[in-house]
Amino acid sequence: MIIGIPKEIKPAENRVGMTPSGVLELTKAGHTVYVQSGAGVGTDFFDEDYIGAGAQILPTIEDVYATAEMIIKVKEPIEPEYKLIKENQLLFTYFHFASCEALTNAMIEQKAICLSYETVETPDRRLPLLIPMSEVAGRMATQEGAKYLERTYRGRGILMGGVPGVPPARVLVIGGGVVGTQAAKIAAGMGADVTIMDLNLERLRYLDDTMPANVHTQVGNEMRIREAIQENDLIIGAVLIPGAKAPKLITRDMLPTMRQGTVLVDVAIDQGGCFETSKPTTHDDPTYIIDDVIHYTVANMPGAVPFTSTLALTNATLPYAMQLANKGWVKACNENSALKLGLNIVKGEVVYRGVSEAFDLPY
Ligand code: NAD
Repeated sequence: MIIGIPKEIKPAENRVGMTPSGVLELTKAGHTVYVQSGAGVGTDFFDEDYIGAGAQILPTIEDVYATAEMIIKVKEPIEPEYKLIKENQLLFTYFHFASCEALTNAMIEQKAICLSYETVETPDRRLPLLIPMSEVAGRMATQEGAKYLERTYRGRGILMGGVPGVPPARVLVIGGGVVGTQAAKIAAGMGADVTIMDLNLERLRYLDDTMPANVHTQVGNEMRIREAIQENDLIIGAVLIPGAKAPKLITRDMLPTMRQGTVLVDVAIDQGGCFETSKPTTHDDPTYIIDDVIHYTVANMPGAVPFTSTLALTNATLPYAMQLANKGWVKACNENSALKLGLNIVKGEVVYRGVSEAFDLPY
């Protein structure tokens, strides 16, 4: 198959759809890979790295779209790319269709085959192409939170691990799924006193068995949250109710009860946020302060660490990309139910219920 890797043109997106090592596996399997010149520079992968992996370099994004049967990307195509997409071209990337009607209509119009990373789902209901980005965001949430606890940023001025004779910071992680587990693990590694809250008792049992001794578990409810926010220095929001907006677990009236310089990191901001005062921010201006409480609410956290994120993404996408390239999308989807659930729009038809419901389109 002829595969194309264009450069991402969404603002502030430095990731690239495939690493040179992923490209090498595809070319070894007999596929032809075209990479747009400079596609990997944001991740520190250069044209010569891709050439070394057997790829051919094309000068422009137009060339890549015009040549490839399958496009492998990171983010959804944006407006200048719409018209470059060809009928029957296979696009393998994050789309998040339900949040963008213009994109949905454009992909219907272009009659492409849109296979969305975020809806690839295994029979045990895991989302293997979302997990790596949640792992990155979870680990990063603690790293960012620790930074904003510093007094320079008007944080509480407390060191995560404390020092001998001085207690460590207290960290509350609300939601003990992929993001919350990774956040707690890093906070525990830094020596903080960590509590994970979740509604799922089975999940808390698992975390209690596997986490280090400085991580405690607690069933979450409003009263416990009201108490805990007065005592914790860093609070990480990591809840998810699949297919729904995040519940507002810390409300506006609770902020004055928190200590000055407390840091809130709302990772669930891409689902609307789990704190009432959260609004999306960017890496250029990631925080704002309300009632002396620092809010960090960046909606695409993994974008700040493109090297780690691109490698993590390729690790997860390559096995699926290989099946698509080896068998063609029809056979690959028929033989792999997880991949089949990734199909959202096929030759102008919406084939994913969530997308049809979002915009009242035939399904
Ligand atoms: P997950 O499904 O693995 O975990 C969510 C957890 O939240 C589950 O354990 C669930 O039981 C728990 N939960 C649900 N409601 C709760 C409540 N009221 N109180 C306590 N716990 C509750 O999801 P995940 O992969 O960890 O993702 C978490 C959030 O992070 C999602 O909103 C996801 O979209 C977001 N995310 C954001 C970024 C970013 O860059 N901002 C990146 C990746 C993921």
